[in-house]
Amino acid sequence: MPYQLHQIAYLIAAVCFIFSLGGLSRHESARRGNLLGIIGILIAVAATIFSQQILGSYYLLAPALLIGAAIGTVVALRVEMTAMPQLVAILHSFVGMAAVLVGICNFSANSIVEVREAIADPALQTAAADAAAQAVISAEIIIHKIEIFLGVFIGGITFAGSIIAWGKLQGRFTSKPVLLPARHWLNLGFLVACAALGYWFLSVQTIGVGLVPLVLMTLLSFALGVHLVVAIGGADMPVVVSMLNSYSGWAAAATGFLLENDLLIVTGALVGSSGAIQSYIMCRAMNRSFLSVILGGFGVESGSQVAASGEAKAHTEVFADEVGQHLLESQSVIVIPGYGMAVAQAQHPIREITDILRKRGVNTRFAIHPVAGRLPGHMNVLLAEANVPYDIVLELDEINEDFPSTDLVLVIGANDIVNPAALDDPSSPIYGMPVLECWKSGEVVVLKRSMATGYSGVDNPLFYKENTRMLFGDAKASVDGILSYLKQAAG
Ligand code: NDP
Repeated sequence: MPYQLHQIAYLIAAVCFIFSLGGLSRHESARRGNLLGIIGILIAVAATIFSQQILGSYYLLAPALLIGAAIGTVVALRVEMTAMPQLVAILHSFVGMAAVLVGICNFSANSIVEVREAIADPALQTAAADAAAQAVISAEIIIHKIEIFLGVFIGGITFAGSIIAWGKLQGRFTSKPVLLPARHWLNLGFLVACAALGYWFLSVQTIGVGLVPLVLMTLLSFALGVHLVVAIGGADMPVVVSMLNSYSGWAAAATGFLLENDLLIVTGALVGSSGAIQSYIMCRAMNRSFLSVILGGFGVESGSQVAASGEAKAHTEVFADEVGQHLLESQSVIVIPGYGMAVAQAQHPIREITDILRKRGVNTRFAIHPVAGRLPGHMNVLLAEANVPYDIVLELDEINEDFPSTDLVLVIGANDIVNPAALDDPSSPIYGMPVLECWKSGEVVVLKRSMATGYSGVDNPLFYKENTRMLFGDAKASVDGILSYLKQAAG
C-alpha cells in the first residue's frame, strides 16, 4: 500500500475512534459509537497488514492473526455479561505485556542498528576516539531509550496490576486489601530503584549490558503493579479497572512512539485520557480522592460487620404475591437493580412488570448507581437490552431526593449501593460513598438469595430496618413470581 494511502487510512481510523468515544457517552448513540469503533479498528488492521513494513512477513503475521482471532471469537461468544470486568482486566494485561515485549525487543534489535549507524556516521570518523564514543549516545538515542524505558515500565505495572485485578474480580484472590507494613515506603522504594535503573540504562552503551537494568526494572515494575493493586480492596475495584484501562492506553501510546506508529500513539492517548477521565468520574461518584484509591487500603474489615461480630439482628421476610399486591396499591415505585439482577438475568421480567405498572398509572422508574454491578454502565446495558425506555432510567443524583415521596422500592440483587452505613457509620469501610437512599421510602423489598454481603464484604443495616422486607430466592424466580401475580390480577 502506498505510504500516503496508508496514512490516510490511519487518519480515517483515528477519526472513527474519536467519534466512537463520543457516541459511547450516551445511551441513544452507544450502538453507533460501537459500530464506528469496529469500523475504525478494521481499517487500522487492514492498513497495517498492507503497509510497507509488513510486506513479506505474512508467514509470521497470518498464523498470529488467525490464532488470536479464533481465541478472541470463542472468548467473546462464551463470556457472561457478569464476567465482563474480568475479561476487560485480562485484556488490559495483554496490552501491558505487549508494551513490555515490544520495548525489550525494540531495544535489542533496533538500538543495535542505531548505534551501528551512529558509529558509521562519517562525521564521527574524523573525531577523536573518545569523542566519537560520546557522540554515539546522541540525543536521538537517549530519547529513544527513554521511550523504551517508560513504555516497559508502564506496561509492566499494567500487566501485573491487571492480572491481580482479574484475580480479585474472578474471586481467585481475596477482594479485601492486602496491606503490607510500610507499604507507602515500599512503593517509594520501588520508584527510586526504577529511577536508578533508568539512569544506569541511559548511561550504558552496549546492548548486552543495557538489557540488565531494563530486565531488572521490568521485574520491579511487575512487583510494583502487584503491590499497588493488592492493596486496593472492596468497592474501589471499579476505579482500579478504569485506572488500569488508562495505564494500558499510555503503554500503547509509548509503544506507538517506539514503533513510530502515529495511529497507535493517537489511540493510546485516547484510551489513556478517557480512562483517566472515567476514573475521576467514578472517584467523584464514590466520594473518594483518586490518590486515596491508588494508595489503597479501602474496604478493610471493620467492627461494623454484624455477621462477623455474631450479633444477630432480625429481618422480615415477604413473599412474591404480597409484593405484587403492594405494587398494585402503590402510586410510585422505584426499581434499584444491582449485580444480582445481572447474575439472575432478571431484566426482561422486570421490564414486563414495569409495563404493567405503567399501564395502570403507577409512576415506575429505575435508579442507577454509578458503580452498580461489576462494570461501568452495567445496569444501563442490561436495561437497554430489555427495552426499558431511557427516560425512566435515572442516575443517582437525579432520583435520590425522590425516595421520601416513593411508596415502594424494589432492590433487585443490589447490596453495597443501598447500604446506609455508607452515610451514617464512620467506622464502615464504605463510609463516604454516596448510596441510593431507598430506606427513606414507604417500604423497601430486597430480592436476594440470602443475608450474604455484597462485593465489599460489608454487612448491610438496610436489611434490618423496620420498613424493609426480604424476598429470598434467585432474583429471576422472585421477579417471575411477582410478574405472574400481576398478570393474574390484571386479568
Ligand atoms: P453487590 O455485589 O454489593 O451485591 C450484589 C448482591 O446480589 C449480593 O449481595 C448477592 O446476595 C445478590 N445476588 C447475587 N446473585 C443473585 C441472584 N442470582 N439472585 C438474587 N440476588 C443475587 O452489588 P451492587 O450492584 O449493589 O454493588 C456493586 C459492587 O461491586 C460495589 O461494591 C462496587 O464497588 C463493586 N464493583 C463495581 C464495579 C463497577 O464497575 N460497577 C467493578 C468492580 C466492583 P446473595 O448472595 O444473598 O444472593
